[in-house]
Amino acid sequence: MKVVVLFGAPGAGKGTQAKRIEERTGLKHLSTGEMLRAEVEAGSEIGKQIAGTLAQGSLVPDDMIINLIEGCITGRKCPQCHGVDSCRKGFILDGFPRTIRQAEALESLLAVQGGAVDSVILLEVDENILAERIRTRVLESGDSRRADDSVETLKNRLRIYHKQTEPILPFYEARDMVVRVDGMKPIDDVTEELNDIITEKPRAPRAASCAC
Ligand code: AMP
Repeated sequence: MKVVVLFGAPGAGKGTQAKRIEERTGLKHLSTGEMLRAEVEAGSEIGKQIAGTLAQGSLVPDDMIINLIEGCITGRKCPQCHGVDSCRKGFILDGFPRTIRQAEALESLLAVQGGAVDSVILLEVDENILAERIRTRVLESGDSRRADDSVETLKNRLRIYHKQTEPILPFYEARDMVVRVDGMKPIDDVTEELNDIITEKPRAPRAASCAC
């Protein structure tokens, strides 16, 4: 099983690329942002607790998100596999981990299953381009579920990215896992490059099991 962490600032294209890579490789795209938005939409207890946090672009508590991912990795409950074994081949994590604590928890959870993260791919995009992309996403997508998609909230999300999420990189760099990809290239070229990295350069052939 292959575990890829797709890393980058909000608006870097992680979600778009992860969907494309899922189609190409069969690795399951797991987006913690999507999982959380689904909770808000469903009006669940968790959803009610986190709606404001999501709208502000702040991070939900580590324990909550680790619990969600644990459900998937262990097969106890994966909100995006829906009980079938679509995670078995592996998964692309989009939006997780976002803090050092989450990165450490991911390492421990996978180790229990005899696995590990194979690669961490950093999609690099200039900040002025990120703002432009979010502006376009707001205008074009009309995704009413994304209360956090505004240029104002992007500033908070970027601040949090630099303060809490970017510091994870040295954690993975120390393990020689980080591959940098220019996320400003044409979308198809980025997909091609990601596909090559994921399919041709397996770093850790260890097996993790996601039984969901
Ligand atoms: P995303 O779709 O990945 O941009 O995530 C949307 C929002 O969901 C973020 O701005 C956070 O409020 C929340 N979120 C997603 N993933 C995480 C995570 N790993 N840790 C904490 N909050 C998260």
